Amino acid sequence: MSPDALKVLVVEDEPGLRKALTDLLGRDGHHVVAVEDGVSALERGLRDAYDVVLLDVMLPRMNGIDVCKGLRAAKPGLPILMLTARGSEEDKVNGLQGGADDYVTKPFGAKELLARVRALHRRAAAAQD
Ligand code: CA
Repeated sequence: MSPDALKVLVVEDEPGLRKALTDLLGRDGHHVVAVEDGVSALERGLRDAYDVVLLDVMLPRMNGIDVCKGLRAAKPGLPILMLTARGSEEDKVNGLQGGADDYVTKPFGAKELLARVRALHRRAAAAQD
């Protein structure tokens, strides 16, 4: 892995989008772990160390807002980027209130997503210094 490679947890239940995110982040040099439901996301996120979590809102078993709250309660400094449905202001507001650091609206541009992942990590890293 290159020195600026990040370990990213991707949480998305749509197989096509999950693969697209995994491929996109992988091509950008990051190490990706992808899960497809909220319970798995919370388990993995609590158990392992990640630099950034990409978290869909609408998920099977547990929604992304509750996953976000659970992760945030245990790991206050973990950068969380919510993936919200287009035009859903409610998703965005709930996500931010649930402790998300930022959000991107689906469908998102590849460059924007990668830039937001890196920016979120930079801010989190700076906050730890
Ligand atoms: Ca979904």
